[in-house]
Order: sequence, then structure tokens, then C-alpha cells
Amino acid sequence: MPKESKSLYSAELLINGIPVTVKSKRIKNMYLRVRAPSGDVEVSAPRQCSLNEIERWLFERHDWLIKQRKRIALQPALPELQFISGEEHKLWGENHPLDVVVKKRGTSVKRLGDRLRLISLPHYNADQRKQVMDRWYREQITQEVKALLDIWQPRMGAYSSSFGIRAMKTRWGSCNIRSKKIWLNLELVKKPVSCLEYVVVHELTHLFERYHNARFYALMDSFLPDWRERKKLTNQLQ
Ligand SMILES: [Zn+2]
Repeated sequence: MPKESKSLYSAELLINGIPVTVKSKRIKNMYLRVRAPSGDVEVSAPRQCSLNEIERWLFERHDWLIKQRKRIALQPALPELQFISGEEHKLWGENHPLDVVVKKRGTSVKRLGDRLRLISLPHYNADQRKQVMDRWYREQITQEVKALLDIWQPRMGAYSSSFGIRAMKTRWGSCNIRSKKIWLNLELVKKPVSCLEYVVVHELTHLFERYHNARFYALMDSFLPDWRERKKLTNQLQ
């Protein structure tokens, strides 16, 4: 890596709808970075590079950019939440103010109108409070998945054997074709329900077609015509 060099000028480009900040510096090579958690894209370019050249260079890396931004979207919400009163916590795409109440026994989370109330033990740290919240999140998403399967399995004529919820780093869901078990990412509880519905339908579609091929997409089109918009929303950064 070169020494941190001062920016000579800075400009904004739009690469297929993704805003990119260009910083011209006294350096030899171009550098590209996607910042977490914002997903902001920044490129450092040698000062002799024209904006056209930089743009072309970025278009060649468009797939990589999309992948990086998706990876960041899959990460739990940052900046690191402390699970303390006054913070905002997500549920089904909405922010809810958190109230932490300390009690001597029994931990739980309850939704009271717009607010979430987390009952914590006196000695609990942020990680332990997060576990209480994750347990509750797991209950919320489990209920919703059950309701969605009740609707979609008979509608599609595709039945899973069971489902599981877990934290996944690289995908929203998966389907084991042989055992017919589907897995869903716990993070979906923070996205609008329409995103979870899209992932459930996607995974059930794998019971008809293993691969992401034309047949798979035709099936998706017939089951959920707006699945592309939902996919975009799912991968959007919060
Ligand atoms: Zn798939």
C-alpha cells in the first residue's frame, strides 16, 4: 500500500445506480474499497487518470462491487449495537426504540406498541443482552416462516420436510434438495416481511429445480411475479 497521500480532487460517479466517490491522488495504481456498514464505494485513482478511464475500470468491477455490497448487507447491523435503552433496533424493516429493564430473574423481550422492552439480568453485558434479543428474533421469524409455509406450500404444491433458522454469512437461505429441509438467515427478521416471503418462495422453488437456470426463473415468475424487486430490497443496505 502506498503512503496515505492527499487527495488532489474528488468527484462523484454513478455506476449502474451505485454512487462512487473518486479521489485523485499521487499514487500509481487504482484502489477500490467498499465501506461497511454504509456500503459507500470509494476509488482512489492516480491523478493522470481521466474520469472516463476510471468509469470504465469501475464498470469492469461492477459484479465485484455488487458482491461486496451484498456481503455487507448480510452482516448484522453496524455500528455495533450495545443493547441499551435509547437504541433503535430493527424488526421487519422498521426501527423500534429499545428499553432495557434490569430484573433479578427471567429474561425476555416484549413488543409494546412501537417499543421493544428487553428484560436483562443485572450482570449481563452487551453480548448476553444480544443473545436475549436473538432468541426473541428467532421466535418472531419462526412464527412468520410457519405462516408463510402454510400459504405457499399448498399454493406451489411443494412441501419442505422442515426448516431451520441460523445466522449465515453469505446467503439468505438454502435448500437441501435430498432432505427437503430449508434454512433461513436470522437477519431476515430485520428486513420487511416481503423479503422473507421472497426467500421462502425461492427455496421452495428449489424443490422443483435445483439450479438457478431459465426453468427456475420461469417458476419464480409464475409464483411471485415481483420477486426481482423483492430481491433488490433484500440486498439493500439498511
Ligand atoms: Zn437458490
